[in-house]
Amino acid sequence: MSKQSFADLGISGSIVSALEERGIEKPFAVQSLVIGDVLAGRDVLVQSPTGSGKTLAFGIPLVEAVSTEARRPSALVLAPTRELASQIVDELESICRSRALSITAVYGGVGIQAQAKRAARAHILVACPGRLEDLIQRGEITLEHIQYLVLDEADRMLDMGFKPAVDRIVRQTPKDRQTLFFSATLEGEAGRVAESYTTDPVTRVNRAEASSTRGRLRYEFVSVGRETKVSSLLEQLDEPGRGRTLVFVRTKHGADRLVKKITRAPGVHAAAIHGNKSQNQRNRALADFESGKVDTLVATDVAARGIDVAEVTHVINYDIPVDSDTFIHRVGRTARAGADGVGVSFVAEGQESEMRKIAKSVGISSEYEAAGIPRGHSGSGQKPSRTETTNGQGGRGRSRSRRSRSNRNGQKPRS
Ligand code: AMP
Repeated sequence: MSKQSFADLGISGSIVSALEERGIEKPFAVQSLVIGDVLAGRDVLVQSPTGSGKTLAFGIPLVEAVSTEARRPSALVLAPTRELASQIVDELESICRSRALSITAVYGGVGIQAQAKRAARAHILVACPGRLEDLIQRGEITLEHIQYLVLDEADRMLDMGFKPAVDRIVRQTPKDRQTLFFSATLEGEAGRVAESYTTDPVTRVNRAEASSTRGRLRYEFVSVGRETKVSSLLEQLDEPGRGRTLVFVRTKHGADRLVKKITRAPGVHAAAIHGNKSQNQRNRALADFESGKVDTLVATDVAARGIDVAEVTHVINYDIPVDSDTFIHRVGRTARAGADGVGVSFVAEGQESEMRKIAKSVGISSEYEAAGIPRGHSGSGQKPSRTETTNGQGGRGRSRSRRSRSNRNGQKPRS
């Protein structure tokens, strides 16, 4: 954490007080890196992982800079998913209130009329590209007064095929706007797009390993049989000290099926979240997960993007992630804001080399090898091996193998 305070970075008293009320007193690394540049009016490219405090890194200076008198909306934040858009609003609402600014989110899957009204009145508009284009086409809002443009999780937006929509949206904003580009990577297409949307930008890189915002992330690899996967999951869910758990599966139907199966077991309170659910069902599942009514959320990758629920103690890769990026995004939902976490990956028969490859590319080969999963194993449900990495989103910290089941973190689900 930085020695500087938010006030040292030029943030005014009302915002500092609103942050303090939420227990946010010292800037995280990415915030110290970025706030000054934004207040100086620079375009900024920021490489920073999820969970590093990036929302406040753009949100605080945005709220500082936007004028209550400005034509609205005067700031636009583009986000890939509805969940991320709502979470950005949740995170920024109290500081906006401290400066009498209004903020709202627009995303698909819910009625458009009420959103349209709120959007036209908002100083800061947080939007998913599809719904934003709908609103513009209907003449409900215009982007001609946008002074500040933020692209959040820009790499995911590109992955999800939003490039044409984002291009059209960016073209409708004034050329002399200030642009902030946040992405987990600035290489490849993300880097090229970042260049094309910004003018003379400064680049700030906040590496996961150096960040003090992440707690200890322990990686486990569990050998499972295709027939015994469900019982292996139930065993995991039964572990002492388990708090909120996110279980990742590949398909929407797989999510529903799994929830049906595991909720038959006594004491398991689970819900599914995926793209086929209505927005209300998704919001309810998230709210139940946050309140502790449900302690296990079974999610597809797309639905889980942007989920930022505090104190997720376990992430379980029930189905193997498609690639290392997906692995990082999944396990990045735990060990946030200084808390500890466990990332469990099931390795079914025939998936050993795929999993080994992923582990290698995220820098946790030694953890994978320490788990002792045989090459081409028979899936007999071995006990997991445990390995631990400090500050481990990319997992490049020092690690050691541990086979004991003791020393679990003691978080309980909130009730
Ligand atoms: P983000 O990367 O924006 O998803 O933020 C991750 C989590 O860290 C959120 O729950 C934030 O509320 C929290 N957070 C962000 N900045 C700070 C800070 N300076 N001090 C304490 N918590 C923070």
